[in-house]
Amino acid sequence: MTEKSAENLIPRPAKGETRPSLMGRPPVVVVMGHVDHGKTSLLDYIRIHGGQKAARPVAGREAGGITQHVGAYEIEHSLTKSKQTAKITFIDTPGHEAFSKIRERGAKVADIAVLVIAAEESIKPQTKEALSYIQKENLPFIVAISKIDLPQANPDKVKQDLAELEVFVEDWGGKIPCVQVSAKTGQGIDELLEMILLVAELEDLKASPDAEPEGVIIESSLDPNRGIIATAIILNGTLEQGKTIYTASAEAKIKSLENFLGQREKSLSFSSPAIITGWDNQPKVGEKFSARPLVAQAIEKETKSSVDSSPETAVADKTKNIFLILKADVTGSLEALETIIRQIFQETNFAPIIIEKSVGPITLTDIKTAETTKSIIVGFRSSPDQELGNYLKDRQIAIFQSQIIYELMEKLTEYLDELAKPTEAKISGKLKILEIFSEKDKKNRQVIGGQLFEGKAKKNQKFYLIKPDQPDQERTEAGKILSIKKNKQELDSAEAVVEIGLQTESLAEFAKGDILEFKA
Ligand code: GDP
Repeated sequence: MTEKSAENLIPRPAKGETRPSLMGRPPVVVVMGHVDHGKTSLLDYIRIHGGQKAARPVAGREAGGITQHVGAYEIEHSLTKSKQTAKITFIDTPGHEAFSKIRERGAKVADIAVLVIAAEESIKPQTKEALSYIQKENLPFIVAISKIDLPQANPDKVKQDLAELEVFVEDWGGKIPCVQVSAKTGQGIDELLEMILLVAELEDLKASPDAEPEGVIIESSLDPNRGIIATAIILNGTLEQGKTIYTASAEAKIKSLENFLGQREKSLSFSSPAIITGWDNQPKVGEKFSARPLVAQAIEKETKSSVDSSPETAVADKTKNIFLILKADVTGSLEALETIIRQIFQETNFAPIIIEKSVGPITLTDIKTAETTKSIIVGFRSSPDQELGNYLKDRQIAIFQSQIIYELMEKLTEYLDELAKPTEAKISGKLKILEIFSEKDKKNRQVIGGQLFEGKAKKNQKFYLIKPDQPDQERTEAGKILSIKKNKQELDSAEAVVEIGLQTESLAEFAKGDILEFKA
């Protein structure tokens, strides 16, 4: 089992043959529907029995052990026609909550959804909720009419109710596959698995074992003995023990890697669930993981997209990258915000690098990501969670938020304008030169005296030189302070207002009345 589950069922290339860079990827399936409609029973049935013709029922409860809950499992199913076996990964994270989080964070994990509707109850509020999620995500889906063994089962009513929601199943003239199943008798389960593989084939899912590993965290918890544990679904590449992976809020030098049965593996590939330990922080459900830190990924993505769309705005041509985390109330506003941000930046010398974008309030994860990546947060109709007030008080994080897009644009433009004048914002103190005590020596050292009339000056600090007749001149670095003296006493720093002597190192020509501005 162990070695098999680490492998994919797609034939491996023979020795000497080069591995194709892309190959078929087993589908990742999510089961959704109203509470009590039989999702858990269906997932349990498939976990334990597979289809009745399953090549290899997956070890689980019937093997005597309690299957630990890790949020996902894999099965193998043999196709009726070809007799070939194929893998399917099922996500059995309960409820919509995890999926909402996954969607909020802009990730996508499932390739196919199974919408479970109980044959005796038909459509209920959560059925509609699941359907709207599926439609928003544009997920291919299969309707599973469950509990078909019950005497009061009325599958036709389900199909009719679906048609009223404009979901037309296959035998109602539509395209949505529909299977009748019972988790009690096993009826229709084979057909369902077959249908999943058929839909997967049409979707033409591809991945490469040689690609950099990437995927999505679906569960994460703190184990008293083992530390932080996360379950991820690998969507591309191969995860290996000892390698490092990154999410927005955490990184892991993979200490141990286990398959969904809790068996140790040296490596795991797509679309397997992987249980990962070795985290520095608890990764959040719904976060994507990848082999490179977020900033590196974001820069690469931005560089690519700007080169693709218009070479003249390539990141490389801009003087400075500004890292951004975008938040909005709904997907539509988020898209609008991104478009506007890109427009604003086009007028500037800065390149926008979007580290993260998601819907919902500004969360602690966003704040921490902003801290570690030195990003600014822009919230359109999205403000920080209330309990973050205190956390934010002690921190210097630039957050721009507004309910009105024009106001947000104004704030951002102002901020970028300020940034474009870096010298003004980043000066710690100013000194007026009153005396020139010595000529420059061979190493351009010189002793001058002056009044520190504003702020502070420190040893080794660099400065700009401002000539009084050119107050608006562009600031370029003119030299550095080698030492500071006050009344013959050597100081490490001085604070306004005070008269001090400075030994400087500079190529510039000083004159009485010139101003030195010390760079913060
Ligand atoms: P979930 O809330 O959607 O996960 O639903 P469960 O799987 O927990 O099932 C709810 C109830 O329906 C339980 O009492 C199950 O035993 C029962 N149930 C689930 N599937 C079937 C089925 O196919 N046939 C019958 N007769 N009962 C079922």
